[in-house]
Amino acid sequence: MNLVNRNSIKYCKKCLYNSHHPLGITFNNQGICSGCLVHEEKFKIDWKKKFSKLKKIVNNFQNKSYYDCVVPISGAKDSFFILHVVKKILGLNPLLVNYNIHHNTLRGLRNIATLRTTFDCDFVQKVVKPEKIKKINKISLEKFGSIYWHVLSGSTVFPVQIAVKYKIPLIIWGVHQGCDQVGMFSHHDEVEMTRKYRKNHDLLGYEAENFLNLTRVLRERDLKDFFYPSDKEILKVGVTGIYLSNYMKWDTNSQHKKMLRLYSYETYKQNRTFDLYNNVDCIHYNGLHDYLKLLKHGYSKITDHVNREIRFGRFTREEGQAIIHYYSNKKVTDKNSFLKYNNLTSSYLSGIFKKFRNSVFWEKRGNKWVLKNNSHKKKKMNIIEIEKRLGLVKTKPKHKNKDLDYHLYDKSWY
Ligand SMILES: [Zn+2]
Repeated sequence: MNLVNRNSIKYCKKCLYNSHHPLGITFNNQGICSGCLVHEEKFKIDWKKKFSKLKKIVNNFQNKSYYDCVVPISGAKDSFFILHVVKKILGLNPLLVNYNIHHNTLRGLRNIATLRTTFDCDFVQKVVKPEKIKKINKISLEKFGSIYWHVLSGSTVFPVQIAVKYKIPLIIWGVHQGCDQVGMFSHHDEVEMTRKYRKNHDLLGYEAENFLNLTRVLRERDLKDFFYPSDKEILKVGVTGIYLSNYMKWDTNSQHKKMLRLYSYETYKQNRTFDLYNNVDCIHYNGLHDYLKLLKHGYSKITDHVNREIRFGRFTREEGQAIIHYYSNKKVTDKNSFLKYNNLTSSYLSGIFKKFRNSVFWEKRGNKWVLKNNSHKKKKMNIIEIEKRLGLVKTKPKHKNKDLDYHLYDKSWY
């Protein structure tokens, strides 16, 4: 593997990741990125054997407490698939855990309710008080150009806190991002959850404790919701976090197609991606959050989604370029709702954009900022026809508003 020069932009010859991927990426002598190389393992691994190994692992944890495991869930992504595997295939009794992202769509809330009813599981949710979230949002915007630190922090720590508190030694996660996107680890490593990975990659290098050095607005007691349990607490219970993607051939699109045949949850056409399944529970993920990612890293979520499809052979690289160009130039429509909720102004946000626009990727032509990247400007293609090939399933809400009078979200759906 060759390490890359940080002053130039290099692109993988197979997918469309660049050499500045925030998770870190390397290239082989043929110009193929580490993510594509590790993805190739998916076609070579004996997954039956791997799944048998998973069964043995979870057997060691079964019946150690009332709950066999903690399963972090959301109103989108692969939650139905994860629970299907955990409950229907592995036969475990999970405790479902959710960190409230504060930017919920109604369909996301309905999906969580449907999930709880469908799988009939106990459920614990953490909802941090709104004023604290607003303070954290302002600090993380100014320091990292991110509105998502609290979501990433809360959703990666609350399951661990619950595992310690309820003395449940096993946490089952879905996909390992570092492995799946950039090949940080091989599937053979069967990497487990660590505090270090969470800090360095999920949290941009800043744990909640580090916020105390950044601001006087928040004190230690305000940030305790986001503190990772100590090594002593984790060792006492023996908490281990495993990823299903190390034991199953992970393909989120195929998984969702199967799950939508079995269960009825809601999908949605989002503004800045063709993906109907991931992050449909969040108002800002594929909006303002996505745009900030584009400013800082020169690519946005659409590139993650396109690369996934290129690697499975469902898009060509050229089609992927056209799709990225189309979606990454779409207007961000959720800015005002974020600003209003967080008591911030448009000029404040313009200042943030200015501060975090990365000159490695952007240049000013006339009065307009444009991406330097030529690979985003390829010939025009029929995007809709290309996307149709994926056979993504778009659903309609199952329930009418009048149903809400009785079937409240907090007591679950039916
Ligand atoms: Zn690649």
